[in-house]
Amino acid sequence: MLSMPDTVAYALARVQERIDSACHAAGRDAAGVRLLLATKTQPADVVREAVAGAPAGTVLIGENRVQELVDKAPALADLGVAAHLIGPLQSNKINHALRALALHGHACVETIDSLALAQKLSARVVGGPLDPLDVMIQVNVSGEESKAGVAPDRALDLAHGVGELPGLTLRGFMTIASPTRDEGTARAEFALLRGVRDEVAGSGAAGTAQAQELSMGMSRDLEWAVAEGSTIVRVGSAVFGARPR
Ligand SMILES: *Cc1c(COP(=O)(O)O)cnc(C)c1O
Repeated sequence: MLSMPDTVAYALARVQERIDSACHAAGRDAAGVRLLLATKTQPADVVREAVAGAPAGTVLIGENRVQELVDKAPALADLGVAAHLIGPLQSNKINHALRALALHGHACVETIDSLALAQKLSARVVGGPLDPLDVMIQVNVSGEESKAGVAPDRALDLAHGVGELPGLTLRGFMTIASPTRDEGTARAEFALLRGVRDEVAGSGAAGTAQAQELSMGMSRDLEWAVAEGSTIVRVGSAVFGARPR
């Protein structure tokens, strides 16, 4: 491909090389790891450029803020790329989020962290255009109080609860690891999420058979996440450059 430094396409190719070599090192098939573009603060035309620079059908779009998802969805929906909500979902924003996600057609809410939220989401999805909606459970593997997500030892119960709700398909688990430079620490956190996934999927409970995805790894730690079994890496700054603060 034509690659020029400082372009989104060039950065995207670098990230794909990182994913490929991490898969190679781990003895994994690169097709088993999808790239989610974490598009917060990026205008729709930049997101379109990034999607166009990736092999067709290989990338996902991830938005953190419901308002940004709503604002950008009309300009991105025709791409036919699945949109994932990767930031917190407040109950009073569920309808807004669902309308925007429905524009994209393919959608996933990765940030379910309580049964109450899942129940409200379920109630509004049933009978609508997104029924059934893919969801993941966000797990707080680092234990930092500031982090969203259910505690690892409560994830199994939550997964069983979500698995029984109509209108939702539990696809797997999502996490953000500690901002550490220590490989052992980060990998232990990613391994914890994998353990949750294996326990849930192995439980045989209703609605858990499809809970195989592990959304973990970002610009700083995607190699370690791939080594621990990530199936979706969420990458922002390594593709789009540093975000303004
Ligand atoms: C921003 C963000 C990412 C991507 O982070 P980078 O460090 O920019 O790669 C991944 N996941 C979530 C939930 C994010 O908010």
